[in-house]
Amino acid sequence: MFHGKINGRHAVIYIITMLILMVLLPYVCIRLFPALIKDVPGAPYDGEIPKTIRLYLTEEDKYETIPFETYIQGVVASEMPASFEYEALKAQAVASRTYALGRIHAGTEICDSVHCQVYRSDNIDPKVKKAVKETKGQVLLYKGKLASHALYFASSAGPTENSQDVFSGTYAYLVSVDSSYEPGATHKKEKETMTVSAFAEKLKDTFPEKDFGTIRKSNIKIKSRSQGGRVATIKVGNETLSGSEIRTALGLYSARFQISFTGTKQITFTTAGSGHGVGMSQYGAHGLAVKGKTYQQILSHYYQGTSVSR
Ligand SMILES: [Zn+2]
Repeated sequence: MFHGKINGRHAVIYIITMLILMVLLPYVCIRLFPALIKDVPGAPYDGEIPKTIRLYLTEEDKYETIPFETYIQGVVASEMPASFEYEALKAQAVASRTYALGRIHAGTEICDSVHCQVYRSDNIDPKVKKAVKETKGQVLLYKGKLASHALYFASSAGPTENSQDVFSGTYAYLVSVDSSYEPGATHKKEKETMTVSAFAEKLKDTFPEKDFGTIRKSNIKIKSRSQGGRVATIKVGNETLSGSEIRTALGLYSARFQISFTGTKQITFTTAGSGHGVGMSQYGAHGLAVKGKTYQQILSHYYQGTSVSR
């Protein structure tokens, strides 16, 4: 009996110790140092660039295998105007190469549409070809690993966004940074006006599972904005949506929008910038290049803590 009692006490101490070690300690660590769990591990980078890439051609509904660097040329030509500064084109080449390689490492199919990166094979400007050749094989690395989520978008019209504020994943290199200098950016103060009832119809069509109730001027309200200044949450009727959901539902240029009303019947969305706002602003890259920044400097600004390989 005596022994049994001691064993019982030992068991309790053992259980308490294990609870502290396995539950309480990690919990306290995460609360105190949230940055510790911020880094989603990237794909390991072995310096290998594939010779070819298997591309799904959306329109033709078939696959084509093409040289990898030829693919990058076709992407840069499609994703950024050749008139942009040369260093911006080089930054785009490295970002696009990194993104493509990330998908290859993840074993994900790559297509030629906006779903992945737009690719075309004809009319490639010599300036684009040169930018790709001069950065041949170079990719973005974060702590020695491929920064495989090298996302980019057209223009920011203010700070960029933390990845987790727009998409689900947290990436230490995709954080909100300044992007105020975007010379020639066309997407400023775009207005989209519709009747409140057309707006309500559109939302009910897009989100049939939600119960909005009656949507009217008095119950449409922006509730919060992200660090980058885009709409984080907006109340519509009985529901709360994200800025990205509104952007997608209405086909707005950006989730950086203001709302105004004409009377009670008309609603206007005034947007600034174009795209999701995460990673490199292409007009911003052009602007930094105009200011004399190199492609490495442009990339390490928009993808914080990264460096170009080799
Ligand atoms: Zn795709």
